[in-house]
Amino acid sequence: MRRKIVVGNWKMNKTVAESAELASAVVAALGNDCSACEAGIAPTYPALDAVGCTIKGSEVLLVAQNCHYEDDGAYTGEVSTGMLKAVGCSYVIIGHSERRQYFGETDATVNLRIKKVLAAGMKAILCVGETLDERESGAFEAVVSSQVTGGLQGVVDISDIVIAYEPVWAIGTGRTASSEQAQEVHKIIRNKVAELYGAAAAEAVRIQYGGSVKPSNAAELFAMPDIDGGLIGGAALKAEDFVAIVKAAC
Ligand code: PEP
Repeated sequence: MRRKIVVGNWKMNKTVAESAELASAVVAALGNDCSACEAGIAPTYPALDAVGCTIKGSEVLLVAQNCHYEDDGAYTGEVSTGMLKAVGCSYVIIGHSERRQYFGETDATVNLRIKKVLAAGMKAILCVGETLDERESGAFEAVVSSQVTGGLQGVVDISDIVIAYEPVWAIGTGRTASSEQAQEVHKIIRNKVAELYGAAAAEAVRIQYGGSVKPSNAAELFAMPDIDGGLIGGAALKAEDFVAIVKAAC
């Protein structure tokens, strides 16, 4: 039985003070109700430390939105896995479609980051998903399969990897994949993992869905056999909505 995981990606939103306030509201609303699943929040880099202090002692995990693949040095504007680990991050989101679309991330750079996260002793959330054109042309299976293969190139053990299926056309658009559409792709991803790592690893790997998840559709999505939680954008910015989604997973 896979333990569901719900992560709130706050993207480039909230000051440090606002982030601490939101984190505090999430912890208060969640209480001790989420031991059946994992819940994490991913604030901006400047807010990681304050949010980490705010959620200390709770079951909520600290998650980073990205990292660089070098240890340190002349990489202006970047943050290393060592820094994220030191501030208390458990997971790092890698290859979000916004990183791929606006910041030139490729499967190759995603792969470097994934390996660096694992080497630092954290867990990685590998994001994959097709664009609207790729969905409409029927290319989504090939696209998602090659993102999984490319992102995991050379990774021997995937027990610290979570995969997030996020159709780009459903992110921030209010247009959610139907639970059947999402399930179909989750199954494709699980089959790909089986091909690469064997049946036991495929059965164990958790695959989150992301794309306009809300309190009103979370339970139906999470009830699908291959959907193991969610990566939540917009709805994670309101404590009560995020907590309702976590509770739907629990
Ligand atoms: C996301 O960006 O990961 C996401 C799923 O956003 P939203 O929930 O707002 O669609």
